[in-house]
Amino acid sequence: QSPSKPPPLPSPLRFSKFFQSNMRILVTGGAGFIGSHLVDKLMENEKNEVIVVDNYFTGSKDNLRKWIGHPRFELIRHDVTEPLLVEVDQIYHLACPASPIFYKYNPVKTIKTNVIGTLNMLGLAKRVGARILLTSTSEVYGDPLIHPQPETYWGNVNPIGVRSCYDEGKRVAETLMFDYHRQHGIEIRIARIFNTYGPRMNIDDGRVVSNFIAQALRGEALTVQKPGTQTRSFCYVSDMVDGLIRLMEGENTGPINIGNPGEFTMLELAETVKEIINPKVEINMVENTPDDPRQRKPDITKAKELLGWEPKVKLRDGLPLMEEDFRLRLGVSKT
Ligand code: NAD
Ligand code: UDP
Ligand code: UDP
Repeated sequence: QSPSKPPPLPSPLRFSKFFQSNMRILVTGGAGFIGSHLVDKLMENEKNEVIVVDNYFTGSKDNLRKWIGHPRFELIRHDVTEPLLVEVDQIYHLACPASPIFYKYNPVKTIKTNVIGTLNMLGLAKRVGARILLTSTSEVYGDPLIHPQPETYWGNVNPIGVRSCYDEGKRVAETLMFDYHRQHGIEIRIARIFNTYGPRMNIDDGRVVSNFIAQALRGEALTVQKPGTQTRSFCYVSDMVDGLIRLMEGENTGPINIGNPGEFTMLELAETVKEIINPKVEINMVENTPDDPRQRKPDITKAKELLGWEPKVKLRDGLPLMEEDFRLRLGVSKT
């Protein structure tokens, strides 16, 4: 060792061990939908200090307003495609737009966020010895030829399509995670998140659950994209956050699927939203977008066995919780 470069401190989680202080946790994309719920949960533990970095592309300070000014909380406006210097024990790396209309809006930026953003967070993890969790996606399976999807499935992804900035971007992010793990011994965790819904989703982000609920509340027709027989499996956000924390705290690198295996066609989802929220609205069939996966359902055997995790909230119980939040934000009271 040269005198200018001190020897590394002992092993990961060393800041908290070395200084006997709190666990310092970085959440990138913490002003977004899943990130802000994760922050709420992490802040419940008095031993946690939480630092959020976000560029507010799709997230908002409003999602974190109850923590602004809290002594264990810090919010930094920062774009993860630029280097970041902070000292932390754990990194939850969520920063990336998740809704197709937002990630397709500036595809070059989306792939930079996935690739350069993840590289920077891995460089940071390497420098400070932090454990890092990446929120990857079920989109890495593309339009899957195996159903339901186990983690061993390598996927069926179009490398040059309009979704590729997101799904190929996440695939490279996973590759980077494993290369840093093998080459530099970084402690990594990879969650493959399936469609998640709940309060604080962007109202007009184009995702199916937020679209249908907003449409039902506004008295507009529900737009089911053709053919309507395509399926998705929807996980309530509190279950998702619980799964992410278990993965971070556990001993498995993953990738591990985190999602709710309850599978619905988009027509069934529309019927359910109509029945629960507004039986008067119509259902309209509209054109679809390219490369829309026809089916998607997680195989969660690994999450059950390795994390002791499975979702608790059923779609029929989660939708009314989201309805309540959307009513408040849209100013539509229950009649
Ligand atoms: P979101 O869009 O609500 O949150 C993403 C956050 O990242 C936002 O606050 C946004 O401003 C921030 N961000 C985007 N680019 C950034 C950049 N370059 N630098 C700093 N911050 C940036 O999305 P979400 O639904 O909360 O998703 C969170 C994570 O989970 C994403 O990585 C997403 O890919 C993954 N995921 C989500 C779902 C889902 O159904 N919601 C499914 C699969 C994977
Ligand atoms: N990086 C960062 N914060 C840090 C350490 C590194 O943002 O605390 C960035 C750094 O700018 C680089 C990337 O992470 O672009 C990868 O860092 P690494 O040290 O692995 O690679 P190198 O800098 O040697 O290319
Ligand atoms: N979808 C729909 N109506 C909408 C928005 C989406 O029928 O108003 C369909 C879309 O074709 C897809 C499914 O819902 O089959 C899920 O789309 P979303 O954009 O929510 O997520 P992802 O495609 O990323 O799973």
